[in-house]
Amino acid sequence: MVASNDGPAPTNIVTNGTINGTNGVTNGAVNGITNYLTNIKLSGNGVVYSSPFAGQGRPNKFYPIDGHYPDSVPEATGKRKVVGGGLAGAAAAGSLSRLPDVELKVCERADKVREAGALIGVMVSAMRSLSRMLSPAGWESMQRLLYRGDGYEGINHRFWRTGEIMTCALSPHTPRYMEEGRISRQALHDVLMQDVPKGIMHFEKHVLRVEKNADEGATGMRIFFEDGSTEDTDMVIAADGLYSKIRRGYLPDSEVRYRGRVSYRQIVPMELVKHIKGLPNDTSSWRRNGEVVFLSKLEPGVYSFVTMATEPEEYANTLRWQHTMDKEGIDRLLEHFKDWDPIINEVIRSLPSVDAYPLNAAPWMCDLIRDDAVAFVGDAAHPTAGAYGAGCSFAFGDVRALYLSLWRSHNSATATSGTAYDVPYSLHLYNETRRHFLHRVEQQIQMDKVDLAYVSAAETDEGWIRRYRERFTINWWLLEHDVDARWQEVEAMERHMYKNKNAAADIAKAVSMIVGD
Ligand SMILES: Cc1cc2nc3c(=O)[nH]c(=O)nc-3n(C[C@H](O)[C@H](O)[C@H](O)COP(=O)(O)OP(=O)(O)OC[C@H]3O[C@@H](n4cnc5c(N)ncnc54)[C@H](O)[C@@H]3O)c2cc1C
Repeated sequence: MVASNDGPAPTNIVTNGTINGTNGVTNGAVNGITNYLTNIKLSGNGVVYSSPFAGQGRPNKFYPIDGHYPDSVPEATGKRKVVGGGLAGAAAAGSLSRLPDVELKVCERADKVREAGALIGVMVSAMRSLSRMLSPAGWESMQRLLYRGDGYEGINHRFWRTGEIMTCALSPHTPRYMEEGRISRQALHDVLMQDVPKGIMHFEKHVLRVEKNADEGATGMRIFFEDGSTEDTDMVIAADGLYSKIRRGYLPDSEVRYRGRVSYRQIVPMELVKHIKGLPNDTSSWRRNGEVVFLSKLEPGVYSFVTMATEPEEYANTLRWQHTMDKEGIDRLLEHFKDWDPIINEVIRSLPSVDAYPLNAAPWMCDLIRDDAVAFVGDAAHPTAGAYGAGCSFAFGDVRALYLSLWRSHNSATATSGTAYDVPYSLHLYNETRRHFLHRVEQQIQMDKVDLAYVSAAETDEGWIRRYRERFTINWWLLEHDVDARWQEVEAMERHMYKNKNAAADIAKAVSMIVGD
């Protein structure tokens, strides 16, 4: 099949598990749904693309803005600084650089983008955001790289001792090309970087703090770097991760604490594990009382081992992010998982080494904005690495909401005088779009602990499996959250409510209006 996103495409109808049309689709079947898509196209391996979603679903299709992809930084009157160049920072750089009248700069502490070996589950919610954020080339890369397995089950949940499948994360109404998939963090980061214009990313720029610019008549923020330099900017996008210095500047009590489990992870060439008999071809998670082992293929030729294992705090304190443990780590894992499904130990034995990372967290921010000029995105805003395998979904949702909010307040007529955007209003829209949803997710994390305690108290394996199935919730509201839909809901309300002292009276008047008034 030939990859293409340009020009007129045939109209096909997807109905009840098959796709009819002239494209000869074999692999793009959709289970059990009747769905009418127009302009379906194919690219590589039978992946179904359909505008307006497949990388063509840029804002010009949904909203009146010409979202093109500049090769160089556009002429600017609005300065934005992104602090942190991880998944959230790279997504912000690629996305926000397409806004008009913006000068964007990313300040990244590291000297280069590093391989940080982890499986990233890209959930449906993330796919929705990416389909509207990425360039066609970026979206094409995602379709090529994501590992989805053979079926439509998402990640299988298996019983830790036997590997029996207990449940799975079905999403039967989602077309194949929008289904969740698995990819390495590095490959995902590379995809995002494809859309970042040259000259935007600045390495070895370690930000110590930000402050409101106190110069007379000044607005915006001043950024203080470790090398003693400072820079002024209209707006800061804090994407500096779980340990965010910027967050702790505003919330000194936002203490990052160990949450009882260590993540051991390794990404290896498929060659190292392909000899293992009975290695599942799906993405599977083995579960036991809060401990999890994930095994999965990722992008072509790559296999991933990730586990979250209960470890004492004294031991966890000796570990660091990307801390490589050779034989000592492998031996520890073999001992820890000796009673689990034997396939897990076989995989562990095939690993040359393993990285260990203590899973820390801090309370999530109630408001994602500060000083009418700072927006928090990604783990900086919701510091719990890996919740529901949806950390990147949350980060991309943040970036997408921020993009839409800034776009909404852009006024090209005032751009020449340096006020192309109403930043405070944009940040208000952003905060209202994200904070309620994220608060609800954080609540769910707490409530899930009650279910976990109930399941863990089972006295037999059969009882454990029964309780797990009974309490497992599929969480589409979270994993498939559509940030554009939420943003539309907020914006349609806030255009009437924002700073409107007469909002209550206006609403009362509207209630009594008849259409045409
Ligand atoms: C074991 C594990 C498994 C996970 N699995 C999944 C999964 O399956 N699915 C999923 O969606 N998510 C998963 N996550 C979470 C996901 O990795 C994070 O949510 C995501 O990486 C957050 O991106 P971020 O850009 O906000 O933060 P980071 O990726 O941490 O990036 C922050 C960046 O900011 C830079 N920085 C920090 N401080 C400064 C400073 N002062 N000045 C300048 N730069 C700075 C850092 O160098 C870094 O590059 C997992 C996490 C872990 C630990």
